[in-house]
Amino acid sequence: MSDAEFALLAALAPNLAADGAGIDRGWGDDAAVVRVAGAPVVVAVDAIVEGVHWRGDVSAPGDVGWKALAVNVSDCAAMAADPVAAVVALQRAPGWDRAYVTALYEGLHAAAQHWGVALVGGDIVSAPTGALTVTVLGDLDGRAAVRRDGASPGEALVCVGALGGPAAALAALEVGEHPSSALLASHRRPPAHPAAGRALARAGATALIDCSDGLGADLGHLCRGSGVGAQVDAAALPLAEGLTEAAAMLDRDPWELAAGGGEDFALLAAVPAEAAEAAAAAASAAEGGIPAAVIGQTVADDARAVRLVLPDGAVRDISASGFEHGRPR
Ligand SMILES: [Mg+2]
Repeated sequence: MSDAEFALLAALAPNLAADGAGIDRGWGDDAAVVRVAGAPVVVAVDAIVEGVHWRGDVSAPGDVGWKALAVNVSDCAAMAADPVAAVVALQRAPGWDRAYVTALYEGLHAAAQHWGVALVGGDIVSAPTGALTVTVLGDLDGRAAVRRDGASPGEALVCVGALGGPAAALAALEVGEHPSSALLASHRRPPAHPAAGRALARAGATALIDCSDGLGADLGHLCRGSGVGAQVDAAALPLAEGLTEAAAMLDRDPWELAAGGGEDFALLAAVPAEAAEAAAAAASAAEGGIPAAVIGQTVADDARAVRLVLPDGAVRDISASGFEHGRPR
């Protein structure tokens, strides 16, 4: 969620529940945590809209179904929960025939199989614009969720998953170039890392968020929630396969694509410094050896800024960079 969306949500707060009986975590995190029959259950909901989150000439309907579930699995991962069940509300655009809708559901099903989620129902309505809204329920097995507001100064920042792939793919498409198949796949069928989220929790993570709006924007949310700043080492960032080559071809800065692009669905965690290397290794191993690295540390900073230190020593404030869905356009 972008800063603009967050500001809108904050204005709506009087209508929302932040706490109370049966609520472990209300609005303001990757997902809510509620008590059902005494047990904590994570609830995540995310919508993806044609023309905003995908283009019909880039993504096949099966890709769209996959993405709609993946973004919610990622929010469960960002609470350290195991995604269990999902429902889907489909806004059926005028051009979506039976074959298109069937292919959407085949993509949803493929993602559900991949992450062990049961797709247990939903709704279909006709609408002027196509969209999918998915709700996923996550199991915490009785443990507390890892929120985004628990970090302290002096902790290590761990990134699990690659950065910049979708940004590079979209930047290439915008100028009429062909992105590599790996970059294109990262946009069409994004990953999610729920096993890594649970591994980070076991390793002592104090704060956790997924990287949906861009490293700078999402670390900014973690920093403001926790009351800390962040210093990130650009050379340590796990870059998407082919990003460096694509950035050179596009005459773009690879750090800008990696730190500001969004839709990476990497996990960002604050971890006590002495546990950081082990946490990164455990999170990587839990997801079959995906990239994971200690990328920097939290610092005491009243401005709650996210500063990226480039290899030449230059420092950029990336707190505001990110993917802004909520702005009027
Ligand atoms: Mg999130």
